[in-house]
Amino acid sequence: MIIPKGERFTETQIAEVTQILAEFGCTLTPIPGATRTIYAIRGDEREELMTNRIEGLDYVSRVDTIQSPYKLMDLKSELTRHAIQISGRTLGQDLLIVAGHCTIDPRNPQLFLESAHAIKEAGAHVLRGGVWKPRTSPHSYQGNSEAIEILMRGREETGLPVNAEVMDEEQLRIALDHGADMIQVGARNALNYSLLKKIGELSAERGTLVLLKRSMHMGPIDEFICAAEYIVAGGNPNVMLCPRGTVPGIDGYRNHPDESITPLLKQKTWAPVVVDPSHSVGKAVYVPSAALAAIAYGADGLCIETHCQPPRGIGDDPKQAITPRVLGELIRAAGDLFQARRPFQQYLPQPEAAVVG
Ligand code: PEP
Ligand code: MN
Repeated sequence: MIIPKGERFTETQIAEVTQILAEFGCTLTPIPGATRTIYAIRGDEREELMTNRIEGLDYVSRVDTIQSPYKLMDLKSELTRHAIQISGRTLGQDLLIVAGHCTIDPRNPQLFLESAHAIKEAGAHVLRGGVWKPRTSPHSYQGNSEAIEILMRGREETGLPVNAEVMDEEQLRIALDHGADMIQVGARNALNYSLLKKIGELSAERGTLVLLKRSMHMGPIDEFICAAEYIVAGGNPNVMLCPRGTVPGIDGYRNHPDESITPLLKQKTWAPVVVDPSHSVGKAVYVPSAALAAIAYGADGLCIETHCQPPRGIGDDPKQAITPRVLGELIRAAGDLFQARRPFQQYLPQPEAAVVG
């Protein structure tokens, strides 16, 4: 990874660096952060002669060669200083609440808009709404591109930024063209490396936030962080990690709750953790406890399925959506817990101390 002395390289400097890298079979990807662009070296960046020649350029501050399968996501990466912001909130400093329908019902747009207003009133910061849905059965409702218009109407009416899951490149392009503020990669696609790469590339310029769910089939934590690395390596560093439960399910819960991996993630990566308790436990009455457990474990935010009339919802909403009233109470309790845990943050690895070079 190349760290420039200034905010970013000029075109001429990029051309010079690219030419040196090419001699060693490497390429350059800019990763624009909020204040500074850094440059990932794609290929084997351990070649000493290459590093020396790049470091010798007077506009280069340094070259970090981190020996990690996820050198951009690594806590030691320069990106450890990168701040992800949305809705006037800075992840890590302010608790982020994403809430909304599992699935937008295109036959009843009013229901989504009613939920959207109530969710804003309850204190959420991002409005979610499933436009395209990954369903176990091909006979279940699969989503519908028309629902993106309803999601965007929710944003227009409430002023909240919006989150939608995409499962392929076509959906990704539609969501980005409509100006979605947050793209969700669901548990089923968290290991779809082609899609992860595409998301990184196509969302790089705009820096759209990406909520990457943990696949229910992921084993080692590094597998999760490496999946996020694909998006960042594509050029977009605005990635948040979302544990949402894994198989096998404890009898009674939909999935095996995995919010307890949060401190382990924080040991290894700078990326914010936004936990989804809804898919983890799968039942509305269990969601508040699972959400608070996630905050206690150090989550930076929560993604919670919420519906103004759950029995009238579709997809997961009838069984696992909480109401906006419960959401409001939960946001207050989560906020108190978020403050209560602050003194203990000092015992976690501190990003600044971890920066190398
Ligand atoms: C969802 O958020 O509605 C969803 C399908 O989530 P997951 O990918 O975690 O199952
Ligand atoms: Mn759902």
